[in-house]
Amino acid sequence: MKKLIIGNWKLNPVSLKEAVKLTSLIEKTKKNTVVLCPPHVFLSSVKYPNLGAQDCFWEEKGAFTGQVSPLQLKNFKIKYVLVGHSERRFAGDDDHMVNAKIRLALANNIVPVLCVGYKTTVLQDDMEVTDIIKNQLDLGLAGLEAEKVVVAYEPVWAIGSGKTATPDHTEKIALFIKNRYGVEKVLYGGSVNPSNAQGFLAQRNVDGLLVGGASLVPSYFNKIINL
Ligand code: PEP
Repeated sequence: MKKLIIGNWKLNPVSLKEAVKLTSLIEKTKKNTVVLCPPHVFLSSVKYPNLGAQDCFWEEKGAFTGQVSPLQLKNFKIKYVLVGHSERRFAGDDDHMVNAKIRLALANNIVPVLCVGYKTTVLQDDMEVTDIIKNQLDLGLAGLEAEKVVVAYEPVWAIGSGKTATPDHTEKIALFIKNRYGVEKVLYGGSVNPSNAQGFLAQRNVDGLLVGGASLVPSYFNKIINL
């Protein structure tokens, strides 16, 4: 079964030239479905089979300075959008905003990737994690068709830290998300690299990966997407 592997470039690189170069170095593998999420400003210029955006707004158009809407993204053939990433939640996004963003992404036929795991601690206690993400999922998915939403379990302490959750724990959390909400695809994110990626991909209920730092290093990302 093909897995879904998403590269989140965050606020990198700084020039279009570098963005185009980086994209050209990422293989177009058939082994997995690969999605690149460059910054919004590069989305119309980089060419890759599947592109995603790192965020979107909950209104289609109007007086919303600085925002980018799912309708605009759809016009650039963007297929996926990250929503509720912990770095957006740190910047003020709450679960109601996340819900509204997902709703509009779905209305525009863009697959929302709902990131949960903000506020988790380093304990990896299954009960603690399910309590926290339950809240994020109850509100984030309220009134929506959950089967059309991809969920990325990203314990906040694992993002960019070099520490990861264990594959066993991640499998239990993925199963919980699927059973409780009817979500069909759950990804893991948090310090994924070529050495630890396989452990997650081998889990039955982990359908792929959300990769930050390692997606900026073509030799690392190419290894991960070809596993
Ligand atoms: C992310 O940005 O969602 C992420 C998981 O980053 P990293 O792989 O660098 O931890």
